[in-house]
Amino acid sequence: MKIHPQVDRGIPPESPNFGGGALKCKCTQSPVVVEISGQTAHNHVCGCTKCWKPKGAIFSQIAVTARSNVKVTENADKLSIVDPSAAIQRHACRDCGTHMVGRIENTGHPFHGLDFVHTELSSQTGWAAPTFAAFVSSIIESGVEPSRMDEIRGRLRELSLEPYDCLSPPLMDLIAAHVAKQNA
Ligand SMILES: [Zn+2]
Ligand SMILES: [Zn+2]
Repeated sequence: MKIHPQVDRGIPPESPNFGGGALKCKCTQSPVVVEISGQTAHNHVCGCTKCWKPKGAIFSQIAVTARSNVKVTENADKLSIVDPSAAIQRHACRDCGTHMVGRIENTGHPFHGLDFVHTELSSQTGWAAPTFAAFVSSIIESGVEPSRMDEIRGRLRELSLEPYDCLSPPLMDLIAAHVAKQNA
């Protein structure tokens, strides 16, 4: 079963004091390069239909970092926003389709100031390991047979990627705390 190439053969360990690295799109010529300073947080596999995933994978793998840690250093002109009306604006390479950065421009959004990145696009090792699976039930929307869900959730647990049908409890708490503050 192909959850995601980064986890299917076991999850590589993260390095302490990891300093960051470069993400490159899949173009063999003039790839888009995005530099990330420092380690990422909340890395997870995601079953939603919006996140970019490699061919054959059921899940995407995605992490967050502060917006100020993200810099497009090469071929920025090849990036365009997949869906400008979405809360997370995914900047993708026009030529190969790889999503390079997901950014939130709405200052009222709980995750404003955080960018979403796919660290699998880096050749460096030591990035934060994924720790949970988000929006697991949504893989049915991408064509997975509902009858396979027990098997898939079982495999995720085997990989220590606790399956949730929304985000992880710490992230859901963060959203709720933001809403509570806005309503106060
Ligand atoms: Zn590309
Ligand atoms: Zn997603």
